[in-house]
Amino acid sequence: MRKIYLDYAATTPADPAVIEAMQPYLFEKFANPSSIHSFGQEARKAVDDSREVTAVFLGAKPEEIVFTSGGTESNNFAIQGVAYAMQHKGNHIVTTAIEHHAITEPCKVLEKRGFKVSFVGVDKAGLVDPGDIKKAITDKTVLVSVMHANNEIGTIQPIAQIGKITRDKGVYFHTDAVQTVGHIPVNVDELNVDLLSLSGHKFYGPKGAGALYIRKATHIETFLNGGDQERGRRASTHNTPGIVGLARALELCKEKMADEARFQTALRDKLIKGVQDKISNVFLNGHPVKRLPNNVNFSIKYIEGESMLLNLDMLGIAASTGSACTSTSLEPSHVLLAIGLPHEIAHGSLRFTMGRWTKEEDISYLLANLPKIVDKLRQMSPLYEKK
Ligand SMILES: *Cc1c(COP(=O)(O)O)cnc(C)c1O
Repeated sequence: MRKIYLDYAATTPADPAVIEAMQPYLFEKFANPSSIHSFGQEARKAVDDSREVTAVFLGAKPEEIVFTSGGTESNNFAIQGVAYAMQHKGNHIVTTAIEHHAITEPCKVLEKRGFKVSFVGVDKAGLVDPGDIKKAITDKTVLVSVMHANNEIGTIQPIAQIGKITRDKGVYFHTDAVQTVGHIPVNVDELNVDLLSLSGHKFYGPKGAGALYIRKATHIETFLNGGDQERGRRASTHNTPGIVGLARALELCKEKMADEARFQTALRDKLIKGVQDKISNVFLNGHPVKRLPNNVNFSIKYIEGESMLLNLDMLGIAASTGSACTSTSLEPSHVLLAIGLPHEIAHGSLRFTMGRWTKEEDISYLLANLPKIVDKLRQMSPLYEKK
């Protein structure tokens, strides 16, 4: 059977060149980078070199990069670290209604600890209005966090513009760039951000390796207490293979990013057009052009995302849905609700995300099969019969 993976936003495979770069650090060069013997110093050099690569990639300085275990830790670190360090100034945080759970959950933890959080809404395309962020900021606000691009609907936010506002107001600005790093250009000065999260496994690096960029002089509390690794900001023995793999993945992205974005944008638009031509009562979620090159998200009326996923899986196609009939909550994705979709339409959502190994024929195969699946399921759907 064919195997077509169209769920790159959930995770990517590690590039073979990344695996090759990591391998020596699992056995021959295994030593603890904090050890002063020459074994340790060899590993230390690999971590330092990787920090330099990561910093250059983002337009940052090496001392502004803290390696973490991934996007979730980087987001928790940024939100809670800044909130606690800035408590003397205020107890208010501004974020959006479409953030990843790795932002919304730490915000909810802070609410239990006496902080106030404003969740700013978005328009139908999933765009945040910088004016709404400006209005939400008060003299108690210590941090604004807005994701660079949304993981479900792919909408890319006007981060640089929001950064100008936060800078004027003297408020720290964090962005969750987990979906953009390695896929579209990301530069911390051009984006006007003070903190930025990234995660290796979203750009062909290893799982369990990420980083938080922290602009020099930003007040932030240590999130993981213990040894004095990462200049005392994040304890725990360095994940040398993970860090080396993350940096190697960034080098590959630097080389390939422009071509990959161009190719994936063409596939994306072919898929969007093909589905709209072949299937009735379907519409695109997210912004038509301010979206990630690899993201397609549809709502297909009268049927459920899970049923479509299972039928696609039987044909070897992996995708994702914002529906949640199989989860404990029964609630569809908060992102789809935030862009104004009614529950029944949110339940009919399907996300396809492409990547380094997606071929044009994969999209053709999907386009040849999805309409049949939709037809079959609609024939069985009581919602459809009423039409
Ligand atoms: C995947 C993802 C995360 C979580 O990253 P992990 O490395 O899996 O912890 C956070 N934010 C966004 C936008 C993501 O897509």
